[in-house]
Amino acid sequence: MLSVQKIKRLSEEFETKTPQEIIEWAVNRFAPDIALSSSFQTQSMPLLYMATRIQPDLPVFFIDTGYHFWETQEFREQIAHDWNLNIVDLYRSHSWDTFARQHIRTLPGEDPNLCCYIHKVQPMQNALQGYKAWISGIRRDQTSVRTQANILELQEDGLLKINPLLNWTQVDVKNYMEENNLPEHPLYGKGYRSVGCAPCTIAIGVNDDERAGRWAGRTKVECGLHTDMFSKKNITESNYESQIETIKAK
Ligand code: SF4
Repeated sequence: MLSVQKIKRLSEEFETKTPQEIIEWAVNRFAPDIALSSSFQTQSMPLLYMATRIQPDLPVFFIDTGYHFWETQEFREQIAHDWNLNIVDLYRSHSWDTFARQHIRTLPGEDPNLCCYIHKVQPMQNALQGYKAWISGIRRDQTSVRTQANILELQEDGLLKINPLLNWTQVDVKNYMEENNLPEHPLYGKGYRSVGCAPCTIAIGVNDDERAGRWAGRTKVECGLHTDMFSKKNITESNYESQIETIKAK
């Protein structure tokens, strides 16, 4: 395994590398113990495209929260078929079923942090067990939290998170999409420039920030996957009330 010092040095070196060079290094170093996560929105297409051209059988985690737009599900199906992707769907743990059935309609509005924990964070925690590395598509220009991120981030449990697009901007995404003729999410042209779950996503204006349509009107800007996912563990239906402060995303 790489030392903390080596990871820090590599991460700094990667600031001047292309996403493809970073992905190639990651795949050569960690395959088959490496996975990519994708939300199948328009801005996810470049990373998904370049990574699966480098490693066609790379596991692609798709978190199926049960709250997605139909358009997202259909787009995911289409891309998976056209690009012959190795998709792994992630679902909520059955241990939350009773609670979720009672709160399914109101939970995103009443407690989005708990909802994201149950439907996104915990499924990803479980899926990543046994993997050594995780490729994510976050960019520094997306949120204030992501501004602080590094290209390589060693987690408490030893997993290495790799963010190859960290230095890219919206313009880089747009240019790469055009150069490679990549498809857009069907809602993109209707003002949904960042698409998450239906209850927490609205269409926005052309001059709004890319993620302004996510949890609009709330202070919440992150679901938890890219903040404190690795410090929130073993939260269950029976103990979540006593850990509610822990669940709150940054
Ligand atoms: S984005 Fe909204 S609906 Fe989706 S898991 Fe988070 S709170 Fe729930």
